[in-house]
Amino acid sequence: MPESTSISYRGRLAPSPTGLLHLGHARTFLIAAQRCAEHGGTLVLRNEDLDQQRCRPEFVQAMIEDLRWLGISWTEGPDCGGPFGPYTQSERRVHYLHALQQLRDRGMIYPCTCSRKDVAQSATAPNEGDDEPLYSGKCRPSRDPRSDSLSGCRVEAKRGGPAGVNWRFRVPDGEEISFTDLHLGLQEMVAGRDFGDFIVWRKDDVPAYQLAVVVDDAAMKITEVVRGADLLKSTARQILLYRALGLPIPGYYHCELVRDQQGVRLAKRHDALSISKLRQSGWTPQQVRCS
Ligand code: GLU
Ligand code: ZN
Repeated sequence: MPESTSISYRGRLAPSPTGLLHLGHARTFLIAAQRCAEHGGTLVLRNEDLDQQRCRPEFVQAMIEDLRWLGISWTEGPDCGGPFGPYTQSERRVHYLHALQQLRDRGMIYPCTCSRKDVAQSATAPNEGDDEPLYSGKCRPSRDPRSDSLSGCRVEAKRGGPAGVNWRFRVPDGEEISFTDLHLGLQEMVAGRDFGDFIVWRKDDVPAYQLAVVVDDAAMKITEVVRGADLLKSTARQILLYRALGLPIPGYYHCELVRDQQGVRLAKRHDALSISKLRQSGWTPQQVRCS
């Protein structure tokens, strides 16, 4: 493999330790590892544990064991360190704060006092069926937040930390956001129609998934994001954040979701299909690969 190839491709596995990994995760992570190997790249493991209410340390251990058992190896991660660490999101607050400050300085976010379910869920990635609902726009400033009229509000907000209100990113209504997915082809979404102003920081002082994942993928120099197709809409949101922060946008490869015989997406609640249960009941990694 030429050296330039091995330097250029950087992929990542980004599980959230909110439960045991299941067959759907295994499929996605195996594809991510395979694509990385095909490109002679470097694979990074990132522990996405921002939602302290739902994440548990025992699941961090379990996901590492399950991934290893599947035969997946990475060379940067919470267990082995690396040049772009830490690789655990709860230890990366300073990076998220820095990005938030940039968005605030550029007038691209605004404080929102609405309390809704989407606010509660925003620290974890939206999966199928629980995507952030279109925001009503109740707290959206009526004038362009970049204009001077709002600078007073911004300065005041700058005095303390970001806590106390939710911070929303103002999307460019009507603008088409498109990207060519390396697996699913051309994707086109319209801001304000397919998704609305989204949360980047929660009032209980937790950075939202959308912000954290962009900051981390950029900081860890990820060149290709492999993940489930339930995150296609999030990709459009994230592209807006990359642009707003002046960061290079990675390539995307979204995998089809694994469904059970009833067509229901495999989620962590399908405990019988967790990797660790399958392992205990005698499955081999090869069987999981080919399931
Ligand atoms: N931690 C996210 C999840 O488990 C991953 C999101 C992503 O790959 O960007 O759904
Ligand atoms: Zn609001």
